[in-house]
Amino acid sequence: MILISACLLGHKVRYDGGSNPHELLLKYNERGRFIAVCPECFGQLPVPRQPVEIQHANGKKVLAGKAEVRDAQGHDATHAFLVGADKVLKIAQAYHAQVAILKEGSPSCGVHQIHTGDFDGRKTRGSGVCASLLEANGIRVFSEKDITIGRLEELLAEDEKRER
Ligand code: SF4
Repeated sequence: MILISACLLGHKVRYDGGSNPHELLLKYNERGRFIAVCPECFGQLPVPRQPVEIQHANGKKVLAGKAEVRDAQGHDATHAFLVGADKVLKIAQAYHAQVAILKEGSPSCGVHQIHTGDFDGRKTRGSGVCASLLEANGIRVFSEKDITIGRLEELLAEDEKRER
């Protein structure tokens, strides 16, 4: 099975109540190999919710207890992010998932880029809390921007082969 950020499969779980439907992933969802996950919802954050950013650091630093996730008013959401990421990891382990395709730019799901922590729209290199935790536990993490038909076919073929 392959973990997918729920918003990429059209689930309305974004902070603003919207989603990020991804045409290719939606099409391949028919194969029944995807598990939709939203770490922020699993951390019991509501929809809609205040946007948050990792404060001038990255997901690895949050996992190490050296950085925080806060909204623009300074409210701390770090605990919810850690709880949600841990639940996603447990789901991955329960289903023996070895691959995740996650939404780029998110403080939870971002793979190559996240926001800086200044709430001014700027992004910086780094991964979100959930993406970092999955990677640290040996799961291959891709952003939706890394996904082409060829790569998706390859990942699905590997996944199906593992279960045979
Ligand atoms: Fe999408 Fe991940 Fe944000 Fe949930 S936490 S809305 S799955 S990007």
